[in-house]
Amino acid sequence: MKRILVTGGAGFVGSHLCERLLNEGNEVICLDNYFTGKKSKITHLIDNPYFEIVRHDVTMPYFIEVDEIYNLACPASPVHYQYNPIKTIKTSVMGAVNMLGLAKRIKAKVLQASTSEVYGDPEIHPQTENYWGHVNPIGIRSCYDEGKRCAESLFMNYHYQNDVRIKVIRIFNTYGPKMEPDDGRVVSNFIVQALKGEDITIFGDGLQTRSFQYVSDLVEGMIRMMATGDDFIGPVNIGNPGEFTMIELAQNIIDLTGAKSNLIHMPLPKDDPTQRQPDISLAKEKLNGWEPKVPLKEGLTKTIEYFDQLLSGKIIR
Ligand code: NAD
Ligand code: UDP
Repeated sequence: MKRILVTGGAGFVGSHLCERLLNEGNEVICLDNYFTGKKSKITHLIDNPYFEIVRHDVTMPYFIEVDEIYNLACPASPVHYQYNPIKTIKTSVMGAVNMLGLAKRIKAKVLQASTSEVYGDPEIHPQTENYWGHVNPIGIRSCYDEGKRCAESLFMNYHYQNDVRIKVIRIFNTYGPKMEPDDGRVVSNFIVQALKGEDITIFGDGLQTRSFQYVSDLVEGMIRMMATGDDFIGPVNIGNPGEFTMIELAQNIIDLTGAKSNLIHMPLPKDDPTQRQPDISLAKEKLNGWEPKVPLKEGLTKTIEYFDQLLSGKIIR
């Protein structure tokens, strides 16, 4: 049994990760300030005596003895990370400093949930880990993109300067049950709109692409990355290479829900990346043949079921 700290553990990805780590017989400490996370995502785990919840903000130091740290604390939806951009930068940067300082002191392994956003609006396609990215450093997405880029730099430098045992993964758009209906990300927006029979809001011409990964594939990749030897630190892309335009995504959701929704076009947010697709060769090589198992239609079906139950009151948030 390992003792594992998960920051951002009450969020969408963090709650799935906490559950999986507990199911594998670990002791899990979930740390969260509930900015975008919710206790209801983890309350079903509370009866497990090996699960603990801590209300804490990662911008403040935190001390605990653990074997591993997964650092997920940070809002991930553009709507939420742009709500208080300074706080977003502080969360990424000071959160990284605090978790790296903790890892250094207690000699724990620490994994950073970085993002495909470090590639910005990429000029090479698909994106490989050695691509440096194309980020607007003063744009509306920069609080998130540059915060995560600075966190990557901190991780590398704590490793080289202080021998901290780090792991950096770059996560591509991930979706699944336990996303918030008002989260603002495209998959949850489209599903909720379809289930309510509302118009589906396509930003811009809808020809921009994203590659959508189901959450269980991400969690598997995270756990495999943490289990690699100290000589592999990343960064490594974790995503599903299946690439879709937003119109194709909307069409898939309309087909699966049987909704009568119309597609309406709204202004494209500034600096919205035009394309995104992970090259996952490195992940396959280093993570024991890891690759995504859940195709888009299957993942969407499970996510639609979740939102259907949520909207009809069968799941309480
Ligand atoms: P989320 O918003 O559901 O979860 C983030 C969690 O962090 C929430 O529980 C929130 O309350 C918590 N948090 C935010 N600021 C905090 C702070 N200062 N102190 C403590 N807790 C704080 O988002 P998610 O989709 O679960 O993303 C989890 C992580 O994965 C994030 O770091 C995100 O950047 C990264 N990531 C996610 C995706 C994706 O598509 N889901 C893609 C790339 C990277
Ligand atoms: N998007 C959209 N309609 C929505 C929400 C998002 O067309 O209601 C688009 C958005 O402009 C972007 C893509 O969907 O091109 C993915 O957006 P999301 O916020 O989910 O993630 P990110 O842009 O960070 O990849």
